[in-house]
Amino acid sequence: MRNAELRSAARRAFDVLAPLGDRAVLGGSIGALSTYRVGGSAEVVVTVASDSDLLKLVEAVEASGLPTLVVGRGSNMLVADGGFGGIAVLLDSSVFGLVEVDGARLCAGAAVALPALARRSVEAGLTGLEWAVGVPGSVGGAVRMNAGGHGSEISQTLEAATVCDLTGPQAGQVREIKVDRLALSYRSSALTDSQLVTAARFGLGPGDPREGRSVIAGIVRWRRENQPGGQNAGSVFKNPPGDSAGRLIDLAGLKGLRIGTATVSAKHANFIQADDGGSADDVAALIALVQRCVHERFSIDLHPEVKMIGFLPEAPS
Ligand SMILES: Cc1cc2nc3c(=O)[nH]c(=O)nc-3n(C[C@H](O)[C@H](O)[C@H](O)COP(=O)(O)OP(=O)(O)OC[C@H]3O[C@@H](n4cnc5c(N)ncnc54)[C@H](O)[C@@H]3O)c2cc1C
Repeated sequence: MRNAELRSAARRAFDVLAPLGDRAVLGGSIGALSTYRVGGSAEVVVTVASDSDLLKLVEAVEASGLPTLVVGRGSNMLVADGGFGGIAVLLDSSVFGLVEVDGARLCAGAAVALPALARRSVEAGLTGLEWAVGVPGSVGGAVRMNAGGHGSEISQTLEAATVCDLTGPQAGQVREIKVDRLALSYRSSALTDSQLVTAARFGLGPGDPREGRSVIAGIVRWRRENQPGGQNAGSVFKNPPGDSAGRLIDLAGLKGLRIGTATVSAKHANFIQADDGGSADDVAALIALVQRCVHERFSIDLHPEVKMIGFLPEAPS
């Protein structure tokens, strides 16, 4: 869409969302919400807090024709400096941030933070989600990404996700999708940008809280020792089959490589750090340079795990 068209589509969406009051914002920063803390704004940012908000959102999407982007904790996205030409959707944590435990079954709202989920499951005498303490995302983002670590991933305990389609024939309906229909595989799922996860249900095993706490402490320690802090989104690239992206980047001698305000971490080669007040376009340029160098050296294509938001699609080579 051209700029003027985009602005008037955003205005149409915003007008539909007017009943939500200050939970709908025209031109709100989303880059600052990401763990990279760089990048621009979305045309509209809306925080949904109820099923009726979801219906208004569907109406706004229909009225404007704008694409949507659900922003969880922003720990797996890089938002372009030019921003996102669509509607960014946030979930109100007082509504979507609840956890309920019933025997071995745990239901969590999509806005629940994974480290909190891990700790809560352990304190409830359950096992199966300890790994999540090291992943700084939300339940919704973890379902979309099939997040995992330390030999586990969400697909191993997820039973079903509650999902609302924002477009299409089922738009506005909140329904449960069983895990086998989500096509969860390595850092991917069948969920699209116009589907919003509102909750997830897990089936866990009986666990000993003392053991669980000690597993969690071990994971936290390992993360502190092996991963950098600061502004990043964890692993930038997916591991190629049978190899590790970090190993290849390290072997290619790229640790410490810098473009402008972005650096390949010296601590973990698959992390790219942004400087305070840095630029998303520098991070994207460094991602492309790392891909080129690794391809030249090993003839292996690295594919980003991080969602690139608002960047132009690459021209075919
Ligand atoms: C220091 C660090 C370490 C990390 N370590 C790991 C790791 O070990 N393993 C791992 O898997 N990941 C890791 N990550 C990446 C990230 O934390 C996970 O991918 C996490 O699941 C993303 O969740 P999020 O809420 O931040 O998603 P976002 O970054 O907000 O979004 C990621 C994608 O999910 C979509 N999304 C978010 N919420 C929803 C929702 N409610 N409904 C539908 N779609 C949604 C977004 O639209 C986007 O496409 C790490 C990140 C950091 C910063």
